[in-house]
Amino acid sequence: MPDVPESHPRKDSLSARQKIVDGAKRGLLADSAMIAHGRGEAFDYLLGEKTTESATMAIRRVATLLTSAERPVISTNGNTAVLAGESMIRVAAVVGCPIEVNLYYRTPERMSGLLSLLGEQRDSVAKEKGPSQFKGDWGEAVRSVRILGDEADFRIEGLEGPRALCTEDGIGLADLILVPLEDGDRCEALISLGKLVCVIDLNPLSRTARMASVTIVDEVSRAAISLLSEVLNPTEVEGEWDNDAALRDSLKHISNAIDRL
Ligand code: ATP
Ligand code: MG
Repeated sequence: MPDVPESHPRKDSLSARQKIVDGAKRGLLADSAMIAHGRGEAFDYLLGEKTTESATMAIRRVATLLTSAERPVISTNGNTAVLAGESMIRVAAVVGCPIEVNLYYRTPERMSGLLSLLGEQRDSVAKEKGPSQFKGDWGEAVRSVRILGDEADFRIEGLEGPRALCTEDGIGLADLILVPLEDGDRCEALISLGKLVCVIDLNPLSRTARMASVTIVDEVSRAAISLLSEVLNPTEVEGEWDNDAALRDSLKHISNAIDRL
């Protein structure tokens, strides 16, 4: 990408776009990935490109659920792997859960490309010093994160075609799925199977956002960084989670954008 100075006000947004462009050139993304990214960007702009307080609360709740679930899994599509793959691997290392590549538009080429990308990201994260709050051998914890998706030996009930495919060891038997940028239909199918479904989606009005057990209305790479801090230090959260209230709060932030003029 042409050099963008550190001080450029749109630097984060431009570099995220470049990651998507590079991922598309490497054949890792579906043709519609840029459209999905653009829709996300529009909502992020309206949210002031910041993590709102209700998103922070949702991240905290997801961290507690992830660390207390019996069989949690982080499901990753192309955009998530390209924008936040390394952060998701760090979260998985702390939680001790697998990551599953699960694509709406599944092709063998994209599956193998994304499995390799996540493998490379895992190697590079394993070489890091690791977060200071992490007790134990960081390299070992990272290397033991399983990256699933290759062998789709399970079908999500209620869905047809390739988008129903997943692994039994991952999504199939999971009690909790963290699935950023999920499609509404699949989110609904996973919920009807009685699973806890936690999503990251910048559009508080999407079917996914409205169907999920907990919705983090935030940009995936920002949310993943905060999620890592939270899983390193999970707090007890009390009471039922009111997802509609969190979605309403995000919409309030969007309508308050008028005050920023
Ligand atoms: P749904 O299927 O839930 O009704 P949709 O069909 O409008 O929603 P999809 O194309 O299925 O949307 O999924 C893309 C979703 O991901 C959009 O809601 C978009 O706002 C969100 N999104 C895109 N990029 C990001 C990102 N970087 N961080 C968080 N969310 C994002
Ligand atoms: Mg959709």
